[in-house]
Amino acid sequence: MGVLRLRSFSEGKWSEGSGQFTPYYSAVNGDVVAEIGSGGKDFKVMVEYARTVGGPALRKFTFHERARMLKALAQALMAKKEELYELSYSTGATRVDSWIDIEGGAGTFFAYGSKGRRELPNDRVLIDGDPEALSKGGTFIGHHVYTSLQGVAVHINAFNFPVWGMLEKLAPTLLAGMPAIVKPASATAYMAEAAFRIMVEADVLPEGAVQFISGSTGDLFDHLTCQDAVSFTGSAHTSLKLRNHPVITRESVRFIAEQDSLNASILGPEVTPDAPEFGLFVKEVVKEMTVKAGQKCTAIRRALVPEGLMDDVEAAIKVRLGKTVVGDPRLENVRMGALVSRTQLDDVRSKIADLGSVSDIVFGDSDQLKIEGEGVDKGAFMSPVLLRANDPWQAHAVHEIEAFGPVSTLMPYKSLEDAVALANHGKGSLVMSAFTYDSSAAREMVLGTGAFHGRMVFINRDCAKESTGHGSPLPALVHGGPGRAGGGEEMGGIRGVKHYMQRTALQGSPEMLSSVVNSWLPGAPQPTGKTHPFRLPFGKLEVGYTLETASREVTLDDIEHFANFTGDTFYAHMDEEAAAANPFFPGRVAHGYLLLSFAAGLFVEPSPGPVLANYGLENLRFVKPVSPGDSISVKLTVKSKSPRNEEYGEVKWAVMILNKDSEVAATYELLTMNAM
Ligand code: NAP
Repeated sequence: MGVLRLRSFSEGKWSEGSGQFTPYYSAVNGDVVAEIGSGGKDFKVMVEYARTVGGPALRKFTFHERARMLKALAQALMAKKEELYELSYSTGATRVDSWIDIEGGAGTFFAYGSKGRRELPNDRVLIDGDPEALSKGGTFIGHHVYTSLQGVAVHINAFNFPVWGMLEKLAPTLLAGMPAIVKPASATAYMAEAAFRIMVEADVLPEGAVQFISGSTGDLFDHLTCQDAVSFTGSAHTSLKLRNHPVITRESVRFIAEQDSLNASILGPEVTPDAPEFGLFVKEVVKEMTVKAGQKCTAIRRALVPEGLMDDVEAAIKVRLGKTVVGDPRLENVRMGALVSRTQLDDVRSKIADLGSVSDIVFGDSDQLKIEGEGVDKGAFMSPVLLRANDPWQAHAVHEIEAFGPVSTLMPYKSLEDAVALANHGKGSLVMSAFTYDSSAAREMVLGTGAFHGRMVFINRDCAKESTGHGSPLPALVHGGPGRAGGGEEMGGIRGVKHYMQRTALQGSPEMLSSVVNSWLPGAPQPTGKTHPFRLPFGKLEVGYTLETASREVTLDDIEHFANFTGDTFYAHMDEEAAAANPFFPGRVAHGYLLLSFAAGLFVEPSPGPVLANYGLENLRFVKPVSPGDSISVKLTVKSKSPRNEEYGEVKWAVMILNKDSEVAATYELLTMNAM
């Protein structure tokens, strides 16, 4: 492989940098892999292009259309994944490490593609919560919505997961309808560039939706405004510098930071050496030290152990670490590859020296390390290093210094309270795990340390096999953490999309707001027509269209028949005296489920037609009891529609069951699948 001259992608065109070219080396053999030019980019133009071309183009699409783009991009990446795997060896990553980066990244696009179609409307406005009543007569209401920010998202990524790190930020951003400028970490930018190029060549995104910077960000921040967002992953040092940029403060630019984290894992206070949780803990600590050579923001840096078990745990971890083969990540027997660069190696070694001043190195001797493979002398290899701090309250450095490599510190705790306090002493982390079979200890941990963690994972004999482990951020779950971890949040399913949108409170009449949000709201008109709504195909159903049914009496015979037929002979339906003694009922009343069944009998149109299936009810409330002799009728209104594919879509119906005085007896939302 020759030396790659990395390019930037700006205004829809690739261009090499200019000026001084800086070389970046293979982590395995020290050969130059890529070089990046220092100049040649006009950041003002890039920002303007994103705002005026990419943003408007993306915002024309609905959430569903954008979600389909993510899926298509993920497919394109998967089709060319072997190219990426090949390149990834130069970063020091084993095939397993690269799988997390490459297929984990594509998986994040797949997950957001699927969530976008299942959980977001086929619309460009996202409703937040329920409408708020603001007036007695109901003619003035409030409702919250999200709309896309109209600027550009600047993504600054760390070196350790060049593909996943890029994609986990792009997925929610693009789904939100916001264009992005991606700036990868230079050390592994060749991986990010290759994955980015595959996405550009897939020709799925509209022009201007994404741009890419190889090299520094120059004066980019000077051009940001309140409609832009910066999402940063990297060291606390860089984060502080960028966060304090005067434009970020002056323009209130959204700044999301994911930075260093001294994540803890706690071995439960009840665990004994023969308990399954003991072995699971040891295995996880070793895994977190060695996967990606410990260059994981979520890795276990502090392993907290009941004081009586310190020696047992240390011995067990050492046995496992002793079996870890370090070397050329292409070799099948190698379990741990190299750090990303010699510079990173020097940094980790100097951090170990700092940590070593307050703790003992109990495993790891870099000088005597046997490195598997040919020509690896100039690589950035090191042994995993286990430290032991016997007095963790005095060893401040172990709660302050992140050695971003295969390094972890073992420390004892005296009680559950002590363990919780030590975990919190990391001053905010991305993740904490606990290996315990004691659910009351788990609850104490959540109450005691939840506020200091973005994610908490409890692993025990029941879930270990299927557990995703301590260190894996997942698209559906929040990734981020308070304090030292940066205070930011990413992913978390649709929560992550909202970081790139503005929430606005709307006020107005129900009719006006219904039209704006494309969903029928109580108080808005409910026009009726000659055609039964079940006869209308999906495309012909208008939001607000309503069926008002005939009424039907509910008799005592009906109630008894229903009770005997179903077996639901609850006293409120069967025993006049007992029912009357209940504060909610005037006497015997109809079953709620009977009312639902009668309601269906009143509103269905029985012959085959566009309604393919009833697949559930939401938000069911029985508001007023119905007594024998009362009668009910139904108002069935099209609340909202969401296509699922080219053949059918979901229709949400607002259903109101009314008594003979037109008071609401029950309300719910009915979900049907209707043919196009
Ligand atoms: P870094 O040195 O802070 O770099 C992070 C990113 O910032 C890189 O893209 C870097 O580009 C860029 N950068 C540096 N100075 C900049 C400036 N003045 N203006 C604009 N951009 C600038 O961090 P790293 O060494 O790549 O990553 C390791 C750190 O990241 C560790 O501390 C780790 O804990 C943290 N991390 C956190 C998470 C998380 O999710 N919380 C995930 C992974 C890593 P250049 O490479 O071109 O300098």
